[in-house]
Amino acid sequence: MVKICCIGAGYVGGPSMAVMALKCPDIEVAVVDVSRSRIDAWNSDRLPVLEPGLDAVVRACRGRNLTFSADVERHVGDADMVFVSVNTPTKARGVGAGEAADLAYWESAARVVADAPRRSDKVVIVVEKSTVPVKTAEAMERILLARSNGGVAFQVLSNPEFFAEGTAVRDLLHPDRVLIGGREDTGAGRDAVLALRDVYARWVPGDRIVTASLPSAELARLAANAFLAQRVSSVNSLSALCEATGADVSDVARAVGSDPRVGDGFLRAGVGFGGASLRRDVLTLAYACERHGLAEPAAYWREVVAVNEFQKSRFVRRVVASMFGTVAGKTVAVLGFAFKKGAAAAAAGETNRDSPAADVCRGLVGDRARVAVYDPVVGEKQIRRDTSPAARAAKTTQRQQAVRVAR
Ligand code: NAD
Repeated sequence: MVKICCIGAGYVGGPSMAVMALKCPDIEVAVVDVSRSRIDAWNSDRLPVLEPGLDAVVRACRGRNLTFSADVERHVGDADMVFVSVNTPTKARGVGAGEAADLAYWESAARVVADAPRRSDKVVIVVEKSTVPVKTAEAMERILLARSNGGVAFQVLSNPEFFAEGTAVRDLLHPDRVLIGGREDTGAGRDAVLALRDVYARWVPGDRIVTASLPSAELARLAANAFLAQRVSSVNSLSALCEATGADVSDVARAVGSDPRVGDGFLRAGVGFGGASLRRDVLTLAYACERHGLAEPAAYWREVVAVNEFQKSRFVRRVVASMFGTVAGKTVAVLGFAFKKGAAAAAAGETNRDSPAADVCRGLVGDRARVAVYDPVVGEKQIRRDTSPAARAAKTTQRQQAVRVAR
């Protein structure tokens, strides 16, 4: 293995490949993206992703065995292993709008992999790193088979990313587990799994590298996020009952979480979960259940999202109620706008990754409050954009969609 290329220089592609380059100095790693501005930012002193420790890792490898480039075709064609780490947002319109994953970027990346000019005797390992619906790897195999040029052989693996924004570098250096999905029932499939395992084995203990079938690996990624979201909605739904009954949700959560069968992670009540992934992954899971005729499991997962929406609007209602039922003309200070501690978009024009703070601000502004927001890392332009009437209208439609599909 000499050359790795990653399509998509985003939150996942950039940090994960930088750590790979750091730990594998004998491998050339190229991260490519259609967005020239993203690539320019990766090549500058102001990285497009703000993660503790990331600057040092990039500085150690950039120009040595780590390259950021907009020349997608060339690097994809040169690579022995191609990671696909492009964005897979929820579909905004068409079949499955509001729930299904939009695979347009993923498909265009798959076609680039299939069509890139390369030596005809090559075996290329394609690694799905984006979070995708179950059986997307099979679709990738079909695209590669139909469009492959000459005698090039492709092996598709799934290697979903589990890091959390805010602790990405630490999680990548010391992962709880690395999951590799592949076709271990064939010789070529086994070889591909081993090749990727060998890369990770340079810094990850062997017992933390686990293998599975392709659909199991794909589903495990969605399920991991769905479980986290479900815990947040569980404790938030209890917080509503605690307020109604005089119980203290922190005491309840502590008592529940100290049972080792439950565990204490993700049990702090709050305004609701945000970020790019949790909501989307729960809905992708619900949509998959629905498509397989599993109406009750689909309804179960959708309710996790519905409770999250309920919690955000309940919070706004509480603020309004605490100010004699009206916030019109009153100034409300909001400390913190990013969706969680340690994570914020650094590049201009970035989204704020679906922060609940934006929903709360929009709710208060909708009630004619004057809202003053302070956040040390989220810029004024972004705060204004996320709280604008246009963002409010888009979010209202999204919320109506979420509640409609949940009912
Ligand atoms: P992102 O939006 O930050 O980056 C994706 C990049 O892919 C963009 O820069 C875009 O320009 C590029 N791209 C899209 N199509 C392309 C193409 N055909 N050729 C070249 N470049 C292309 O997304 P992200 O946060 O890095 O997420 C990538 C995937 O990883 C998603 O499926 C996401 O759900 C998943 N994931 C994200 C996180 C996270 O914390 N952000 C964690 C685990 C998994």
